Formats: sequence, C-alpha cells, structure tokens
Amino acid sequence: MSTPNQSGWKPGSPVQDHNAMSGPDTVTGNRALMLEEPLIFEIGTTDTTGVDLPEPAGGANRLGGLDRSESIGLPGLSEPETVRHYTRLSRQNYAIDLGLFPLGSCTMKHNPRLNEKVARMPGFADVHPLQPVDTVKGGLEVINELANWLIDLTGMHGVAMSPKAGAHGELCGILCIRAALEARGDAREVILVPESAHGTNPATAAFAGYKIEDIPANSDGRVDLDALKSRLGPDVAGVMITNPSTLGLFERDLKAISDAVHEAGGFVYCDGANFNAIVGKVRPGDLGVDAMHINLHKTFSTPHGGGGPGSGPVVLSEALAPYGPLPYVVRGKDGEVHLVEEENADEFEHTKAFGRMTAFHGQMGMFTRALAYILSHGADGLRQVAEDAVLNANYILRSLEDVLDAPFGHSGPCMHEALFSDKGFAEDISTLDLAKALIDEGYHPMTMYFPLVVHGAMLVEPTETESKATLDQFITALRSVAERARAGDEALKTAPHYAPRRRLDETLAARKPILAWEEPNPPAGTPTMSEQGGR
Ligand SMILES: *Cc1c(COP(=O)(O)O)cnc(C)c1O
Repeated sequence: MSTPNQSGWKPGSPVQDHNAMSGPDTVTGNRALMLEEPLIFEIGTTDTTGVDLPEPAGGANRLGGLDRSESIGLPGLSEPETVRHYTRLSRQNYAIDLGLFPLGSCTMKHNPRLNEKVARMPGFADVHPLQPVDTVKGGLEVINELANWLIDLTGMHGVAMSPKAGAHGELCGILCIRAALEARGDAREVILVPESAHGTNPATAAFAGYKIEDIPANSDGRVDLDALKSRLGPDVAGVMITNPSTLGLFERDLKAISDAVHEAGGFVYCDGANFNAIVGKVRPGDLGVDAMHINLHKTFSTPHGGGGPGSGPVVLSEALAPYGPLPYVVRGKDGEVHLVEEENADEFEHTKAFGRMTAFHGQMGMFTRALAYILSHGADGLRQVAEDAVLNANYILRSLEDVLDAPFGHSGPCMHEALFSDKGFAEDISTLDLAKALIDEGYHPMTMYFPLVVHGAMLVEPTETESKATLDQFITALRSVAERARAGDEALKTAPHYAPRRRLDETLAARKPILAWEEPNPPAGTPTMSEQGGR
C-alpha cells in the first residue's frame, strides 16, 4: 500500500516554492502551462466553421415554410481551435483521475479501466433499446447476472433494475410500498424520516403523496428507537432510514426498528447509497429491510458526477417484489432470460407491477461496468472494499480530531465517512472559508453543510481506492487549513487565491443566473449575437 512519493514529499512537511501564480503579470494572462480561456462566444465568429461541406444539391424542401430565414448566429471555430478551446477548459476542472475527491455521501472512487473496456465492447455499447429482443440476449444475461449478485449481496428477494439514479430508486421503492398498501386497502398517509436524512428521502415521500414526519436522533446521532416506536400506528406507511447513516454511523437498532415497523403494519425503506461501507459484511435483508436502492455509481464504481449517468436498482423483500415495475428480466422455464414488458405475465409470478419507471430496461452501460467491477473483485474482494473504505475514513477521523471537532467521534469508530463541525474555528471563519482554502491546496472540497443536523458540517469520504500516502498528503493539507481556521487567518476569507477564478458570489449566481451571453461592447454597427438569433 505505501508507495514512495516521487517528489520526495513527506507527511507533515509543507511543499515550498510551488506557487506558480506569484510573480510578474504576463501579457497573455497565461501562467506558463495554465492557460486563460475566454468563452466560445468571445473567440468564435459566425462566419467560421470547422467543416467544409458542399452546398446541398436541390431536393424538395419539406419544412412546410418553417425554415429559418436568418442565420442562427452560433459562434464557429476551426477544428484545431475547437479542440483547444474545450481541452483548455477541461484543464480548469478537477476530476477523480487528477486527485482525491473527498466528497462525503457521493463516494467518488476510482473507476477501474477494466469496466470501461468491457462497457465499450460493441455488443454492449452499440445496442439500441428498440432492437429485437432475440438480438440482445447477451445484454439480458448481463442484467440478470448483475440482478442475482445484487440480490445475493443484500439478502433480498427481487430487484427492480430500471431506476436511473438513487433518487429515482427511492421513488420506485416508495411506489412499491404504496402499491402493496393499496392492494390491501390500507390508506396510510405518513412516512417517518430521521433528521439526518439526505434531502432526496423526504422529497421522494412527498412526491409519492405522503406526509413526512421527523424522527429524532439520540445523543449518539442514531435513530431514537423509543421515539420511533411511540410514533408508530395505523397511519404510518413506513420509515425511510439510511444505513450507514449520513452521519457515517451504522444504525445498530435497524433490526429492532424493522420489527417494530412491521408489527405496526408498515414497511421499511432503506436508503442504500452508503452500501459501499457494508457490502460483503451485512445483508440488509437480514435486518428486515423491505426496499433499498443501490447507487451503482457509488458502491460499484461506475463514473458519475461530471463523468457519467447514475443507476439505482432497488432490491425488494418478498412482500414487495410482486409490485416491482415493468419491464424486468427473469430466467424462464426454458432456461432463457426474458425481458418482461407486459402486465399479467403469470408464468413469471409477477402480476401486480405498479407501472413503469422508465421507457426501457435501464442504464446498460452502468450495468456492464458494475458487473465487471463485481466479477473482478469477487465476493472476498467486495468485502475488502467495505473494510478498506471504513479503515481509510477512520484514519482521517482520528488523524484530524485534535484540530477539527468530530461531533460523534465519542460514539466509536465511524463507517465510510468522517464527520466534522466548525466548532473551534475563529468567530469570523466559516466552513466555506476552509473549503475555499482547500482549493488553493489543490483539492476539491469535502461535502459542506450536510448533514444539516451538524453546524458547519464537513463530511469527508476518502473511499477505499486511496493509498496511505495519498491520505497522508490530504490530511496534511486539511490539518493546515483547519489550524488557520482556528487561528482566524484573514486570508482564508478571500480564498481561493490560486484558482483560475477567485471566490464567486454563489448566492447571487443561484438566485439570479445569467444564462444568455451578451456581447459587452460591440463595435458600432455590428449586429450582436442575440440580434442574430444566437444565445
Ligand atoms: C447520493 C445519495 C442519494 C441520491 O442518489 P442519486 O443517485 O444522486 O440520485 C440518496 N441518498 C444518499 C444518502 C446519497 O448519498
């Protein structure tokens, strides 16, 4: 695990004289290899194009008089200028392939190249959802194989593969609960959600037509079992509990919670976004969970954020599986995997589907990547993923708790993420200031101000794919900015100092976004981009 650091950098020794931003101004605005780049509207012109096509030869116009009478006004560049424009912009981005991404709750882990290789195989990459089913049997086998892994790993009864993100999976699970309750003529109205929940949980329950009530936490940060039990009754449809929670804690009472909820006639939804902390160690089915989404893009390493789409299959208990959405895959009596598109396909004992979540079968590219990841790790490798993710997070928690307040550090080890608060910072320094200073140190900031129950929260998730050397370097950077925050270093308030752009007014940008570009000072007589119809 410990790799020698080529730059000779040692933990605890700040890197000297690496500040390429200091020094005299340059006429170009560039700083050696860090190139400034204007917007494409500022450098492109409407009469330039990177392609050279012949005028179309005649042919009937079939636009029925709706054809554009003026130029669309889009800026054009030559091919090399276009390539350079986007490459320069991309160099101002941070990415998992550049460095550690400590975003808690998001699980930004390395995306193994093997996954990409497999997903790009033409038989997977080039299939079309409307292709005849007997030409995509290999794809259906992949979906079915992945479905079986997810069922085994979670100890559940069935799985709905089509939801396209965690939040979409939550909606699918809650709609299954709703369908099961309606099938028994039970119009329950309330879903209970802990205070620390991800915002998508209450949003999902509200979207599905439920009233949301908070469940309080105990002093350990975990769900207060007695408070929950005393709220259960004939109006409670179910609970939505994240395990491990967004505080980075394992809900030790989940089995007791499930038993109580079932006793009261409700269902248990588990937000499984943090499954990477327990995969191969704990089966949610054994804890009485009825429905749980799995973020393939978190636990099973398919690229996300700026890098790709999500995928949120939902595993279902025996009670809920019959209500899962169409379409679904199942191995029939003939030994073949079928894509079931119709209701009442009794031969597959699945006759009560609540409807559909998506037009087609889900994210094929994500399924292929997740299965490649699972098969390359094997069952023992997946268990090791959980163990290393938890080990790395605890290393960060214990390495920094002398300079950063860890509100639940007293309640034992954390799971896959370390939670800190702004307690102990100088009065006028905020979590935001610390995060901006971390950008100057070359890191994407951690998740901030979430979970809401912790003041000035900082949630750090290193994941299992980081080496000890990388963690030590990050800890040194975070320790340094934390010490500056405690000492009240005023320079933090204007950070970042070295990023391509200084601190932006994020509130103004969110409240009054300017979405159309206006030419600042057009030379007299030139039509502006917007007058030409450009945006
Ligand atoms: C990421 C996350 C979600 C939502 O998943 P998406 O795929 O982003 O829709 C829900 N709950 C928790 C705890 C999460 O971390």
